Amino acid sequence: MTTRRQRPISLKTTDRSMLDAQKRRYELSTGQKTEWGTFLGTMVLLGLAAAGVYGRARARHQSAQSVDVECCECGGPFLMAVPAGTGRAVQVTCPHCGSELVVDLGASQ
Ligand SMILES: [Zn+2]
Repeated sequence: MTTRRQRPISLKTTDRSMLDAQKRRYELSTGQKTEWGTFLGTMVLLGLAAAGVYGRARARHQSAQSVDVECCECGGPFLMAVPAGTGRAVQVTCPHCGSELVVDLGASQ
């Protein structure tokens, strides 16, 4: 596996301070400190789900290693493995209907 060199993402100052403020707000609300990459990746998935680009699947009965997911398109249930270190939002494909879904693990229980 090759690791590519990090390249800075160009941002306007106003965008940068808005993002800083939102990241702080997220960390205060959830009590989780997150890396920038993890934070942005999570927010992009949740945001795209909210924008309707991905269906947002329901997660229930989360255990340490797995979660029961219900597809929001076909209603089909399936079990998804959740290895240690999995972030809050995960992109999956429904095994029943092939829909692209985002599972919000923070919204389960
Ligand atoms: Zn489905």
